[in-house]
Amino acid sequence: MKWEGNRESDNVEDRRSSGGGMPVFGGRSIGIGTIVIALLGGWALGINPLTILSLLSGGGAPTAQVQQAPAQRPPADDTMGRFVATVLADTEDVWQGVFREGGATYQEPRLVLFRGATPTACGTGQAAMGPFYCPADQKVYIDLGFYETLKSRLGAPGDFAQAYVIAHEVGHHVQHQLGISGKVDQMRGRVSQAEYNALSVRLELQADCFAGVWAHHAHNARQILEQGDVEEAMNAAAKIGDDALQRAGGGAVVPESFTHGSSAQRQRWFNNGLQNGNIKTCDTFSSRNL
Ligand SMILES: [Zn+2]
Repeated sequence: MKWEGNRESDNVEDRRSSGGGMPVFGGRSIGIGTIVIALLGGWALGINPLTILSLLSGGGAPTAQVQQAPAQRPPADDTMGRFVATVLADTEDVWQGVFREGGATYQEPRLVLFRGATPTACGTGQAAMGPFYCPADQKVYIDLGFYETLKSRLGAPGDFAQAYVIAHEVGHHVQHQLGISGKVDQMRGRVSQAEYNALSVRLELQADCFAGVWAHHAHNARQILEQGDVEEAMNAAAKIGDDALQRAGGGAVVPESFTHGSSAQRQRWFNNGLQNGNIKTCDTFSSRNL
C-alpha cells in the first residue's frame, strides 16, 4: 500500500503512554481465560462493544466516562502511528466526498490508540476484544498489538490488511451516521438471539462493504493499491470470518452463532464495495443472498 507522505489525520488521540493497570469490569478483573475466549470467539473487529462490554461486566448500561484527551499526532518516528493516522485521514477524505454527493455532511470520528485497556463511553475497552467502534462517543479504538495478532495468530499479514481493519471500523461509524446501527441496536431484546445475530452479521458485512467502498475511492484518488494489496485484505476478511475463527478455536462451526459472517461472505462484501465504490450496493439488509 502506498501511503507515506499522504495527509495524516488530526483526529488521532494517542493514549498509549497513559495505559497500564489492571482492567476492571464492574469491580471484577477479567483473567486470561476470558481474554482468550473473547479473541477466539470472533470479537476481533466487533462492533457492538455495547453488547460485548455489558456481557463482560455482567450487564448494566454503559457509563459515559469519556476521557477527552486532546488529539495529538503520533511522533515522527512512530511508523505504525503515522500509518494509522494516514489511513484515517484517507477515510475522512473519501467519506466526506461520498456524503457530500449525497447532500449530507460527514462528521469525522476520532481514533484512539491505547494499550491494554482504556475508558470509553461504552465501558472499559479491552485490547483483547480487538479494534472496535463505540457509537456513544463516536470513536474507533485500537491497540496496535492487534496487528501482531492479525499477522501471527490469525495469519493475515500486510499493511493493506491493517488498513482494512481501520476502514471496517470507520464503516461502523458511517453506519452510525446513517442511523443504521441504531436501528439494529433497537432490535436487541425484541428478537431472539439467533435473529439478533443474523442482524449483526448483516451490519458487519455492510461495514466490510463500506471498507471496500473506501478502498475503491482512495485508489481512484490516490493510487494507494499496490500488487498484492487486494489479496491481503481478502485474506484478512477470510481469516476473521466466523467459521474460520470457530475452526481456529478448535470448536465446531455453528452458523446460528455467527455475528460477523463467514469468510466467504466477508470476502464477497468487501469485494463488492471495492469493485462498485457505491454504498447503494452495500445494502446487506435487503439482500436475500449474503
Ligand atoms: Zn465490525
